Amino acid sequence: MQIAERMSRLGSESAFEVLARAKALEAQGKSVINLGIGQPDFPTPPHVVEAGIKALRDGHHGYTPANGILPLREAVCAEIARRYKKTVSPEQIVIVPGGKVTMATAIMMFGEPGAEIMYPDPGFPIYESLVNFTGARLAGYPLLEKNGFAFRADDLLSRITPQTRLLIVNSPANPTGGVAPAAEVKKLVEGLQRFPHVAIMADEIYSRLVLDGAGDYASFIPYLDQLQDRLIILEGWSKTYAMTGWRLGWGLWPQNLAELATKLAINTHSCVNAATQYAGIAALEGPQDAVENMRQAFRRRRDLCVAGLNKIEGISCIKPEGAFYAFPNITRTGLTARQMQDRLLEEAGVATIAGTSFGRHGEGYLRLSFAASDEAIAEALERIKAFLAGNRPKQ
Ligand code: PLP
Repeated sequence: MQIAERMSRLGSESAFEVLARAKALEAQGKSVINLGIGQPDFPTPPHVVEAGIKALRDGHHGYTPANGILPLREAVCAEIARRYKKTVSPEQIVIVPGGKVTMATAIMMFGEPGAEIMYPDPGFPIYESLVNFTGARLAGYPLLEKNGFAFRADDLLSRITPQTRLLIVNSPANPTGGVAPAAEVKKLVEGLQRFPHVAIMADEIYSRLVLDGAGDYASFIPYLDQLQDRLIILEGWSKTYAMTGWRLGWGLWPQNLAELATKLAINTHSCVNAATQYAGIAALEGPQDAVENMRQAFRRRRDLCVAGLNKIEGISCIKPEGAFYAFPNITRTGLTARQMQDRLLEEAGVATIAGTSFGRHGEGYLRLSFAASDEAIAEALERIKAFLAGNRPKQ
């Protein structure tokens, strides 16, 4: 048996491995607080669940068009018009089983040996994994704490080469919670006019989770005209509506690329299950108070988490502006990110993710998801504090 060489180049997502280890420890009777996995700890809003059930009862159990049912794609277009005042055609929307599939589709569309794809480091680990899988050159760009873990347009533009085919940006970001300032987004779009050979994939899966209100956040969607024929938006329901397990996402594509993305869908998953798509319509068109409640809960927990982390000797944490992750600096503890992750899990019963799971520039940091109860966050911080108090680095 011979497996294709490219399989050895696939990476993984540590969050799933940490989750498995945490479950194993719990099965042995140990208490583990899980701040590792990145998903809302709220239920899907009940009217969305009901819409899914109703769709099944109504007999929506067959295949759907590969790019998604038309009413769902129309609902996405209406959402784009409402939020960004932009008119797009349902032909440009491709419904996928989770935002991740838009990412995989875009990277497979542009990646091959000789090509170069830029992505954030630290960043969502699947960017690097898939770029590597395609054989394209890994062109990770660092996101620095001193810049609030947000990209700087000049830095990105200076890294573009004639081989660069795709630039991936993510704001609000996983794992840092960084939000790119609106002025930097604008500057990047202006600068990209000099590089018409570069396509852009903006991962905006956390766009409804800008924690202090709209703040300084900017989507790339308002720049559709400036980035005509080369802007791809990754969005979805997972984080906004607490629907990670439903597997539902949408991509906004230039028309010709939407057709290719649909072809890939036909070759892989055929379509998203029909009932989930009906639930997706209910989520977009129904009341949005659950979204707002979650955002406010995450903001409160963010404040709790950051204040608590900054009280622990050896740790400092800047305020994440979006998503539900804190990315504290742990360099003064004397432990590497991986040592800290492993020892916190095994010795203190707190599941977190080493910053290095998100790229080499994540060394010296840890990702904590504050999509957990206030009590769980408080207890986890106590445990981290006690663990570090017993492990002061030798002077
Ligand atoms: N993009 C980012 C930045 C994420 O953090 C995630 C999930 O954690 C995804 C995309 C994928 O989302 P989905 O679960 O909808 O595939």
